[in-house]
Amino acid sequence: MTVTNGPRRPRGEGQWAVGHREPLNPNERAKKDDDPLHVRARIENIYAHRGFASIDPQDLRGRFRWFGLYTQRRPGIDGGRTALLEPEELEDEYFMLRVRIDGGQLDLAQLRTIAELSQRYGRDTADLTDRQNVQLHWVRIEDVPEIWRRLEAVGLQTTEACGDAPRVVLGSSVAGVAAAEELDGTPAIREIVDRYVGSEEFSNLPRKFKSAVAWLPDLPYEINDISFLGAVHPEHGPGFDLWVGGGLSTNPMLAKRLGVWVPLAEVPEVWAGVTGLFRDYGYRRLRHKARLKFLVADWGVEKFREVLESEYLHRRLVDGPAPPLPSRPIDHVGVHEQKDGRRYVGATPVAGRVSGTLLAQLADVAEAHGSGRVRLTAYQKVLVLDVPPERTESLISALAELGLQARPSAVRRGVMACTGIEYCKLAIVETKTLANDLVARLEQVLADSDADITININGCPNACARTQVGDIGLKGQIVMDAQGRQVEGFQVHLGGGLALREGQEASFGRKVRGLKTTAEELPEYVARLAGHYVAGRKDDESFAE
Ligand code: SF4
Repeated sequence: MTVTNGPRRPRGEGQWAVGHREPLNPNERAKKDDDPLHVRARIENIYAHRGFASIDPQDLRGRFRWFGLYTQRRPGIDGGRTALLEPEELEDEYFMLRVRIDGGQLDLAQLRTIAELSQRYGRDTADLTDRQNVQLHWVRIEDVPEIWRRLEAVGLQTTEACGDAPRVVLGSSVAGVAAAEELDGTPAIREIVDRYVGSEEFSNLPRKFKSAVAWLPDLPYEINDISFLGAVHPEHGPGFDLWVGGGLSTNPMLAKRLGVWVPLAEVPEVWAGVTGLFRDYGYRRLRHKARLKFLVADWGVEKFREVLESEYLHRRLVDGPAPPLPSRPIDHVGVHEQKDGRRYVGATPVAGRVSGTLLAQLADVAEAHGSGRVRLTAYQKVLVLDVPPERTESLISALAELGLQARPSAVRRGVMACTGIEYCKLAIVETKTLANDLVARLEQVLADSDADITININGCPNACARTQVGDIGLKGQIVMDAQGRQVEGFQVHLGGGLALREGQEASFGRKVRGLKTTAEELPEYVARLAGHYVAGRKDDESFAE
């Protein structure tokens, strides 16, 4: 006789709000067993004194992320072995440390502190990320408490720079100074960070949670879990338009407008409502389906807004207009007028690679030209604010001597790269040196061209440098060369381009079937592609078209 237990219940997605409180995978178990924020005390009281070998593996490969700490890749392990080795075989005894710089805003004391920490504790390494953070490498666990002490003395932190928590809040790089800005979102960013970062209310989210608050759309707003963009309501005036559910990596999705207008003072409350909804209704069963975008895709914006209003805000939100959107990403490179008559100058290194020494020099150069603050962009650029008009040419020359170009070639300006195999344990290929070689080669080939092409180089499918939205998006993988050997290379995506052209939908790059190149051949390959584009384009036709 066959015994049945009645109809099978549909398998849940691990949502707390529908009763799935029992963890359904090891990540969820680790977060439930001990709030990740508690690891700070163990770092300060135990691990920093007893050294790397004393670190509990669950802390090392899990909770450390809540304080911006990842073990870095052991040197000399090629990308072909990345997927074959155990974590302990891949990892070194040193850390990458991510400093969160909410809104991308730094005064010179903060910039100098990061520079000194890099020089003293990070072998002079520093990378500007594409989310307005700075990453140091070669950090020892013994030095972490002192690094925190010095960062916090100038108002910086690494808390929740990584992990399943509210990451850095992106802001417009020209907030408070741009002539075109009607409302500065910075007070909302500060309030979100002060109230909620490091709070146990949101320290256990289903997955990472990426936010942005900006009047000007000078950041990749469509690929955040939540974005507030400046919009003018016909009756209520300037406020913010709310987008939810964007994200790249696997299953890339663009954020969707909820169609609501939020006044500045209510942005933190609405942000907390969306974050709480994600915490409670987000999928926790499978890590690769845990980002907010999957919930938004399943529910649709109407249901999402309804649950947000009824269960979290307990009021209706005001319907609002769509914000104006740019035709191309805004990176602020060059000289621009501020609303107070002074200038800001945007300059670019190659693919975000700088150093502690360079950051210290940048602080000196900015100060010598009358500036007391810099900003980071979400395109791996740096801005010097408040420059008197008569000092801009001198500043541009001084920045160029540091390798920061305010009048770069189009290709130098358009290249971004993730960390890659130099430090990242997930990487399959090298990225930063390759970006440098690529820029050098393309500057020769396209010397007289104004080809405006973005090239996003990623060391693996995780798309930290946004593979799918570059005009040429490169995803690191092992490929066959002409001799049949397995070598580092890239899958090519063509014609992404995140910002909207008037009347067009934003789009992801097409993964071109079978289109791959070896890393060695990449500069020539991209040179050919760019050459075809330049030779064949009509008027202002973009690469994506
Ligand atoms: Fe590492 Fe891959 Fe992200 Fe690059 S895209 S930083 S290789 S995880």
